Amino acid sequence: MKNTDNLQFETKALHAGLEPDPSTGAIMTPIFQTSTYVQAAPGDHKGFEYSRTGNPTRQALENNLAALENGKYGLCFGSGLAAIDTLLKTLSPGDEIISTNDLYGGSYRLFTKVFEKFGLKFTFVDLTDLANLSSAITEKTKMVWVETPTNPMMNIIDIKSVADAIKGKNILLAVDNTFASPYLQTPLDLGADVVMHSITKYIGGHSDVVMGALVCKNDALAEQLYFFQNSCGAVPGPMDSFLVLRGIKTMHVRMQRHCENGRQIAHFLKDHAKVEKVYWPGFENHPNHNVALSQMRDFGGMISFSLVGNRKEDALKVLSGTKLFSLAESLGGVESLIGHPASMTHASIPKEEREKSGVVDSLIRLSVGIEHINDLIQDLEKALNY
Ligand SMILES: *Cc1c(COP(=O)(O)O)cnc(C)c1O
Repeated sequence: MKNTDNLQFETKALHAGLEPDPSTGAIMTPIFQTSTYVQAAPGDHKGFEYSRTGNPTRQALENNLAALENGKYGLCFGSGLAAIDTLLKTLSPGDEIISTNDLYGGSYRLFTKVFEKFGLKFTFVDLTDLANLSSAITEKTKMVWVETPTNPMMNIIDIKSVADAIKGKNILLAVDNTFASPYLQTPLDLGADVVMHSITKYIGGHSDVVMGALVCKNDALAEQLYFFQNSCGAVPGPMDSFLVLRGIKTMHVRMQRHCENGRQIAHFLKDHAKVEKVYWPGFENHPNHNVALSQMRDFGGMISFSLVGNRKEDALKVLSGTKLFSLAESLGGVESLIGHPASMTHASIPKEEREKSGVVDSLIRLSVGIEHINDLIQDLEKALNY
């Protein structure tokens, strides 16, 4: 296996964990569409016994992801939520988890509607202010769950400061790195213990796969995670693993364009008369801009904005007025998407509650794709001309 440890992200994306197929020389990792593997004698096999436990296509992807996050172990799952589910199963009833308050709705639902029933306790705090973290820690705290940038308000949490604040306390720091992608941010380098991804988003990048991943460095944690991955069985299939490996080969090029287009659209919106406020961490007056500068390579393609007058009717006009930005859930694909958090991702949160965190009725979220910037701006310009 090539050693890619000292290579740049772009090179690792194409080479880490990947070798030509030894039986044919195929340069692309084959889709090993098989459930089982023939043994010469009981226990005498070539490293694979059954595809829930391990599959060569999935393993190539897992090794590649581990390298991209500067970790040692990668594990893939049938979805991002399945990855979180597996990680939480390493905890025990009575354990407490402190989480970002402004987090992905599906994670919030999994925490409060599924795992609370099994005796885990979740506290949701604003982790952009570390004083909230210290006051929430108890002797039962076993994990801190950080999502940064947050959805949809684009707050940035200082991963290294959180890691420093819990150092020596036997608390695991988990980071949902979905919004940034490993191209923009590598939390393990900042002191996180485990990184989680919804691969469905930027890593897959083409809106054609649902998948999740965990990456860590610690041997004992990895052993536990492999145990739960195999015991609970929420693994992705070889075809999807192949599609994601293919997507990863262009991740850095896609991310550069997502960032470039995002930057131009953020500035276009900021100067638009009908736009009240733009949430994008690249602005110098963004409250966590300096943290973003220090832990991210660039600012990504996710932008939220509110409208002057804050009327839902106006937001709905914009949402139905765009032709290139498609109205849909999800993010991180090559094509641009537009969404309305108050009635889509955050609909289950009471109005008063969501408005406290900035999710007002006119808030619109964009996942800026990699189309030509002039076409995207023209599309928004027309839609804002209501
Ligand atoms: C989509 C998403 C998830 C859940 O991932 P799935 O692949 O949809 O299960 C978790 N966290 C964030 C930030 C997401 O955007």
